[in-house]
Amino acid sequence: MDERLDAAARLCACNGAQLTPLRRAVLNLILAAEGPLTAYQLLDQLKAVRKSAVPPTIYRALEFLIENRLVHKIERLNAFVPCSEADQAHGDRHHAVQFLICGRCGTVAEIEDDAVTAALAKAAAGRGFKPQHAMVELDGLCASCQSA
Ligand SMILES: [Zn+2]
Ligand SMILES: [Zn+2]
Repeated sequence: MDERLDAAARLCACNGAQLTPLRRAVLNLILAAEGPLTAYQLLDQLKAVRKSAVPPTIYRALEFLIENRLVHKIERLNAFVPCSEADQAHGDRHHAVQFLICGRCGTVAEIEDDAVTAALAKAAAGRGFKPQHAMVELDGLCASCQSA
């Protein structure tokens, strides 16, 4: 875990940003979680170590972690997961990503399928649309829930 946090700190330093102890604590909670956490779940957990934490504390830390490509927000769940590719270089932009959300066990899998990304870009271009950000979220059942 410390290794992942240290890697995150290095990544931030490359971006000219600083992974402060508070941001590190929030990232630690997200990395340690079994599944996606909402901002309020994070706040509750953070309060155990930082009594003074208030909602803006969490929102600012989350914003930083997302900007530095360490965390993704799952819009559908209004919850946060660690980026599974955070230790890889992606250049200036966050990588295009798709999420598979299991409705039974709540796991979220992050995939990065270039064919999906290319198909979306092509379809958008066909309508003269210039996308800035593509967030693809699929609801369904994961492999282990289907076989259960
Ligand atoms: Zn990612
Ligand atoms: Zn499942």
